[in-house]
Amino acid sequence: MSQNYQRQDSCGNNNVSISDLIGKKRDGLSLREEEIEYFVRGVVEGTIQEAQIGAMLMAMFIRSLDNEETTNLTRAMTHSGDVLRWPDEWKGSVVDKHSTGGVGDKVSLVLAPALAACGVKVPMVSGRGLGHTGGTLDKLESIPGFNVSLSHEAMLQVMKNVGCCIVGQTSNLVPADKILYATRDVTSTTENIGLITSSIISKKVAESLDALVLDVKIGKGAFLKDEQSARELATRMVKAGNGSGVKTVALLTDMDSPLGHMVGNALEVAESIHCLHGDGPQDLTDLVIRLGGQLLFKAGHASGLQEAYNIINGTLHNGTAIAKFAAMMKAQGVKADLADRLCEKGVDVFEILPRAKHSTQIKSEMSGYVHDIDAMKCAVVTGKLGAGRTKAGEAISFGVGLHLSTHVGKHVEKDTTWMTVYHNEEKLPDMFVSMLEDALNVRPEPVKTAHKGTRVVDVIT
Ligand code: URA
Repeated sequence: MSQNYQRQDSCGNNNVSISDLIGKKRDGLSLREEEIEYFVRGVVEGTIQEAQIGAMLMAMFIRSLDNEETTNLTRAMTHSGDVLRWPDEWKGSVVDKHSTGGVGDKVSLVLAPALAACGVKVPMVSGRGLGHTGGTLDKLESIPGFNVSLSHEAMLQVMKNVGCCIVGQTSNLVPADKILYATRDVTSTTENIGLITSSIISKKVAESLDALVLDVKIGKGAFLKDEQSARELATRMVKAGNGSGVKTVALLTDMDSPLGHMVGNALEVAESIHCLHGDGPQDLTDLVIRLGGQLLFKAGHASGLQEAYNIINGTLHNGTAIAKFAAMMKAQGVKADLADRLCEKGVDVFEILPRAKHSTQIKSEMSGYVHDIDAMKCAVVTGKLGAGRTKAGEAISFGVGLHLSTHVGKHVEKDTTWMTVYHNEEKLPDMFVSMLEDALNVRPEPVKTAHKGTRVVDVIT
């Protein structure tokens, strides 16, 4: 592959080079589809120098990508490697979700089996996640034996037998993203709507989905703090998904306080199991139903949204969702007796799941109504306890984390426990205690704006 391609520039010259394209973008012009394809091909084939990749990303970052460029970049990235293929009879029924990430966000663990119990197919390719708390794969790996590294053939088998799997990205799925993401990380070009969109959506389109739901989080515990940016990202991602042939919808959801009551890898698996038994916290259960309902409706498995919500809610109460979770665990390496025991109703799952040796109770300094539990403060402490990682490959502690016994809108009494912290060190450092005490905002007056049973702020179609 040469550094040039047989195209004419605006002056009619042939053989436009990559540096011409960088210059074009630097000067604020839009790149055409074939120019974006040429760039992505060069990235993957190694014919473009690292400095040129960095320069192009900076030009894209500063000048922004318009909707058409974003969709073209998404398409070129999708086809930079393998695209997963499914049997013809699954046509219309292959679905997935992507979340921009939040604190206590264990939705995938509940949603994938619940959807499989509704009869759709869920090839969930998930992330490990850098940051304060572990990603979905880390949470699953706190279950002894759970294997997230499946080949496409193995995924297909699990999907045939169970209906869902949750796995890590295989090496040749969107290889362009691996290179571009690593370069963005070291060139201060991560926070750009067009680049984020193409990175996220290309990986989902490469799963050959029929429908995709995006959970775009807003607030203290989200990477987008304000509604305006979340709305822009959601709108762009919905356009890029639909433009790539995947029926896509986004929910904007509140992430000011942690989702559910548990934060930390094994603790979140425990809470997911409760939710799969129909005993989950209201906000988590509602979010699973709303995200899953959108997918069932888009995939034609329900004639309206309310019917879709009822169908998925049913799986959480009739034993079919938890049965799928057990089957998925067994198909992904967990010993059968262990998987069955974990999914037995009423069992203490910490007989099997790891939990840190020590615990400390955090008490409320005053009586009143909970107006806020700062998700970011909770995440920072959980990260410092060892639940997340600051660089790829770092070991994490599965058993550490937080158990919140209150929620926004509830009343707490002075000197009563509102949170239990699980930690490995014998003594929880005072700095962590005061940070968690600061995370709780209690006031005498009742909360007017507490979630009215849902985290969903808006739906973007
Ligand atoms: N997640 C991704 O996969 N890519 C981004 O650019 C941001 C979040």
